[in-house]
Amino acid sequence: MAFTVALAGNPNSGKTTLFNRLTGSTQRIGNWPGVTVDRKEGTIKSKTDITLIDLPGVYSLSPYTMEEVITRDYLVHEEPDAIINIVDASNIERNLYLTTQLLDIGIPVVVALNMMDVVNKRGDVIDIPALSEQLGCPVIEISAIKGFGIQSLVGTAHEAAHFGATPHFVEAVEGDVATAVHHDQVIAHHQYRETHFERTFTAPVEAAIDSIAQVIQGRMPIEHLRWYAIKVFERDERVEKSLHLNEAERAQVESLISAVETEYDDVSSSIVTGESYDFISTVVEQTVTKQQVGMSLSDKIDRVVTSRILGLPIFVAVMFLVYYVSVTTIGALVTDFTNDTFVGAWIQEPVAHWLGSIGVADWLQSLFVDGIIGGVGAVIGFLPQMIILFIFLALLEDCGYMARIAFLMDRIFRRFGMSGKSFIPLLIGTGCGVPGIMATRTIEQDRDRRMTILTTTFMPCGAKLPFIALIAGVAFGGAWWVAPSAYFMGIGSVIVTGIILKKTRLFSGDPAPFVMELPAYHPPILRNTFYSVWERSSAFVKKATTIILLTSIVIWFASSFGFDAGGFGMVDDLNQSIAAHIGNAFAWIFSPLGFGNWKAAISSVLGLAAKEEIVSVMGIFSSIGDGAIDMVDAGQMGALSPIMMLFGASAIPVAAAYAFLAFNLLCVPCFAAVGAMVGEMKSWKWSLFTIGYQCGWAWIVGMIIYNLWIWIALGTFGFWTVAALLCLAVILFLLFRPAPRDRVAKLAARTTAA
Ligand code: GDP
Ligand code: MG
Repeated sequence: MAFTVALAGNPNSGKTTLFNRLTGSTQRIGNWPGVTVDRKEGTIKSKTDITLIDLPGVYSLSPYTMEEVITRDYLVHEEPDAIINIVDASNIERNLYLTTQLLDIGIPVVVALNMMDVVNKRGDVIDIPALSEQLGCPVIEISAIKGFGIQSLVGTAHEAAHFGATPHFVEAVEGDVATAVHHDQVIAHHQYRETHFERTFTAPVEAAIDSIAQVIQGRMPIEHLRWYAIKVFERDERVEKSLHLNEAERAQVESLISAVETEYDDVSSSIVTGESYDFISTVVEQTVTKQQVGMSLSDKIDRVVTSRILGLPIFVAVMFLVYYVSVTTIGALVTDFTNDTFVGAWIQEPVAHWLGSIGVADWLQSLFVDGIIGGVGAVIGFLPQMIILFIFLALLEDCGYMARIAFLMDRIFRRFGMSGKSFIPLLIGTGCGVPGIMATRTIEQDRDRRMTILTTTFMPCGAKLPFIALIAGVAFGGAWWVAPSAYFMGIGSVIVTGIILKKTRLFSGDPAPFVMELPAYHPPILRNTFYSVWERSSAFVKKATTIILLTSIVIWFASSFGFDAGGFGMVDDLNQSIAAHIGNAFAWIFSPLGFGNWKAAISSVLGLAAKEEIVSVMGIFSSIGDGAIDMVDAGQMGALSPIMMLFGASAIPVAAAYAFLAFNLLCVPCFAAVGAMVGEMKSWKWSLFTIGYQCGWAWIVGMIIYNLWIWIALGTFGFWTVAALLCLAVILFLLFRPAPRDRVAKLAARTTAA
């Protein structure tokens, strides 16, 4: 028989770690909520008749966030045969809240008490049989990371799914129900719950829930009745709507609820919450013995790393180092080798030589050598740098540091009316914007969610790394500050945009509370690091060999052919090519940014297809131009390098190059990310606003950088200097003006005073 078992638990309790271990799959593991936003399916390796569903992490089954809705809709409507409720044992009190709600649903629950390695190390003791009896379901100790308890968990889950409850477990509690279990699973399970479920509410609440159950019964499978009745009692609108109550029934239910509310002088939902927590604290008190030891090492590290004074400087230093090492020092060394030696000397030259020797037509030679190898090779050349960066990011994530940063950022963001939840998509977006945008689903308020979607792609994702490294290398000779500055320009743009938008009426409002467990630091698991790096790098290679290959051919064609001397054909002068004509038509847009030439314009626009395109296009241009990809060779620095010739016409080429970097970093992301953005915004109006804002912001930042730079360095003062100063003034004004809330408060204060 085939069974479906759902994996439910709080965010960060180890669901995905367990899922991957059981199914052998390589879902992404993250140290923060929002990593698993959709459910994932897999087959348990050791019991192939069980399909396991990894659900998004939730703290409760209330209908406030998208994950909560996904999770509970799945559990109630698709009826898995059993639920494995993964509980972070090192944080048991908070985790059991969800457990109580899962138990109400009426599907057999097996509690997997995860992170027992941490509990054991702390010296805490949990009385498993007692906990199991109090909850009324089997409890199995496991460690998803260390791998103990897993087989026993699978066995128990299998039994639970098969019998609707665990037979020997039931036997142990009460013999007579156990026999019934085999006859009719559902009924037996129901009875079993009725007789043994310990989590009951106080008498008046129980009475009300029972009466509500009488009113609504018959509209759902019997085993879910209690859950529905509780939800109706809590005035859960989604559930109420789904039941289609008539006027009379609604009135009846309402009078039942309000009677209890009057008696307790509290709203029904908080009565339920309060009593659940009372139940949990009794359970924990009776089953968990905590060792009172001093601060753990993890706590000590946190004292420093998340401290108010040192937290931020440490984060800045860490990220600086990460970008410096991966892009500027080791990364550049390896990339030099891959670009010049590997792609240039080992592939491009021999291929050119060979094609020449077998007498292939010139144009075909050029297509292969300049177009395909030039375009794809230029991008692939940056793979080593990217891998090094991804390794660093994966290690920082996996050991638990990045989760601390989200927590740290919450404190800072909150001051501006934003929540630390908005920071998590940014962290994820440092790999790729698409999952970053998806991760915004954890944010409840639409306004904050939109704002976060809008800002997520300001971060330098993996695909942006090549042009950042390229500019750092050719324009600045690998100066130490260039690559890290891109990262902080990204974060800076997020914060500035956040503050500005939060002060407008469209986005104002209080930030959502941000709760997150900080799992103890642990040495990174190499397997996780490997998969995370693999996933990101292979996506990069896939793009290079598909979309970039394709566009490389198109670009090669457009820049090799054109109208010259009256006819159409291959042109010797790049400036006569089709690409030049197209690029020249809109290059003026970038003149105020210092790079108003067709090559830079075309590569910026093609960056929308994929950000790697920017480097690929430059590779082709310089390859057609002088036949070699000398992309990051420091010896070719300055005006001599083919890349720097793009900026040669500007007053200060490096200023134009930096403005180019800023523009492409902050502008609209690639099509894939725009697709995700539009999909998540679910509104054309907001999508267009986002795209407009991103383009505008990128252009203005680039314009300010270039014009102030040449003004300060050369004293060039003109129309665009004034424009830059004006823009800067407006940004500063929007940044520092009082928030609308404060304005209202002030107004109110004045009126009362008068
Ligand atoms: P999810 O959000 O529930 O899917 O949780 P993840 O599987 O992504 O894990 C969250 C964090 O907890 C990761 O850093 C894991 O490495 C860590 N973790 C998971 N299981 C264990 C465990 O048994 N012991 C310890 N010490 N850490 C664990
Ligand atoms: Mg997960």
